[in-house]
Amino acid sequence: MKKFLGYCCSLCGAEYSPSEIAYTCPKDGGNLDVLLDYESIRRKFHPEDITSRGDPSLWRYLPLLPISEPEGDSTPLHAAGWTPVFALPRLAEKLAIRRLWLKDESRNPSASFKDRASAIVVARAQEINAKVVVTASTGNAGAALACMSAALGQKAVIFAPRSAPPAKVAQLLIFGARVILVDGTYDDAFNLTIQAAQEFGWYCRNTGYNPFTAEGKKTAAFEIWEWWVETHRAWHKQDSSLNNHPPLTIFVSVGDGNIISGIHKGFKDLLALGWISSLPRIIGVQAEGSSAIANAFRANTETIVPVSAATIADSISVNLPRDGARAVRAAQETNGTYITVSDKEILRAMSELGAQGVFAEPAGAAAYAGLVCAAAAGVVGSEDPILVLNTGSGLKDVRAAMQAVIEAPIIEPTLEALKNLP
Ligand SMILES: *Cc1c(COP(=O)(O)O)cnc(C)c1O
Ligand SMILES: [Zn+2]
Repeated sequence: MKKFLGYCCSLCGAEYSPSEIAYTCPKDGGNLDVLLDYESIRRKFHPEDITSRGDPSLWRYLPLLPISEPEGDSTPLHAAGWTPVFALPRLAEKLAIRRLWLKDESRNPSASFKDRASAIVVARAQEINAKVVVTASTGNAGAALACMSAALGQKAVIFAPRSAPPAKVAQLLIFGARVILVDGTYDDAFNLTIQAAQEFGWYCRNTGYNPFTAEGKKTAAFEIWEWWVETHRAWHKQDSSLNNHPPLTIFVSVGDGNIISGIHKGFKDLLALGWISSLPRIIGVQAEGSSAIANAFRANTETIVPVSAATIADSISVNLPRDGARAVRAAQETNGTYITVSDKEILRAMSELGAQGVFAEPAGAAAYAGLVCAAAAGVVGSEDPILVLNTGSGLKDVRAAMQAVIEAPIIEPTLEALKNLP
């Protein structure tokens, strides 16, 4: 079955065949949406054909992806996705919200959401026989690409800003990628990567440039859909008086805007297939110091004005977001919104999530910090069922984590010293 029809520019609507083009629209630089043959997918598959698959990874959604699964069956690449959802009853009570869950993307093989994108891009690289895959990264996209590439013996080159947290750089190196630290920002690394890919014929994974990253990221929407159908059914069984409750609201942190766009795309796929009847509400959360997309949303425009980004949340620190227009739409078309949070609020969210057993990196905790603000401002109410995404592990940035906590005391190894502690 040929399900991958081609690409459609998200700005001008121009369509391209799969072999005609690899990255962005040549006319206006717009991000490309992958076009799938929904008719033939719908004829061939029912939702149960997917939900009954045994595969606990994002590869269970292969019928809805524009690629084929790489050979071999138990590498880290094959284990990407299918992350757990936890209830957060104590935080729910604190926020006066009846139903609150967190989907923990730090459980991915390289410990961030980015594995979803990198798994699909590496699968594409194998299909087109790419010798080398390259990406610019603040750390996580690179770690994910290095990990997924290592799993299949694919060569990878990563450009990261020299300011990337050491744990992330260690991950890149341990996975055996060629790592080049750029004396500049993420945006500088981004531009250099595109030049290098052109010069050396490498396949470029850059976020908001390669159309396959959003296709990987959309698998989180499919998992949320499966989980929600189950959860919703159980919930109604418990309380049959429930019928007209609000839709699910999803909180996600936003840097380049590719995760939020990918999640939006996933739900739009399901809508086009007739497998859902409406979209959940999607709320994007940015750091106050890196809020180019939130600014555009508030100005009601898709034109993104770059900022000079500064935030502790390095994974969402971006001057010029590369997937801004689609990221604005993701909130607009789902009755969602954008929230901005301060670094202080992000650090508080890290310690609050930690106290529930979830260790998030700053960019991951930002989504929860956004919920705290949204609840205080009445953007969400007590009856809204809410799912927060934690996009990355706190172990990736222990320096930031240490700022979120009070340091442990050091004592002489005596009972007396212990008793003397304040
Ligand atoms: C990349 C990343 C994000 C933001 O994703 P974008 O696609 O850049 O918006 C959020 N959290 C973490 C941990 C990330 O690595
Ligand atoms: Zn275009």
